[in-house]
Amino acid sequence: MAAHRAPLTNHHSDHSLCPPDHKHTSSGKPLHPNCPGRSYSQAVCTCGTWQFKGTGKGCVNESRKRHLATHPAPAKGPKVLRDLLRLDLP
Ligand SMILES: [Zn+2]
Ligand SMILES: [Zn+2]
Repeated sequence: MAAHRAPLTNHHSDHSLCPPDHKHTSSGKPLHPNCPGRSYSQAVCTCGTWQFKGTGKGCVNESRKRHLATHPAPAKGPKVLRDLLRLDLP
């Protein structure tokens, strides 16, 4: 089973995508001549039942991570841990 992903995208106030090449200053002012400014960030999970929209990128990112944590972790992590524990046994 493939792990779910919830990529974060940025949008202008007219809901069009604000692509990654639209750079912004640290205070959020657009540096790209065609960019009206980032209005909100959005994350949509590939599971199809979750999405989150917010003006704060950090806030969206946090919600996204929280949601992704509700999905079962990919098999790789726990197995590696089990292998490590086995190696530690006498
Ligand atoms: Zn933009
Ligand atoms: Zn999901």
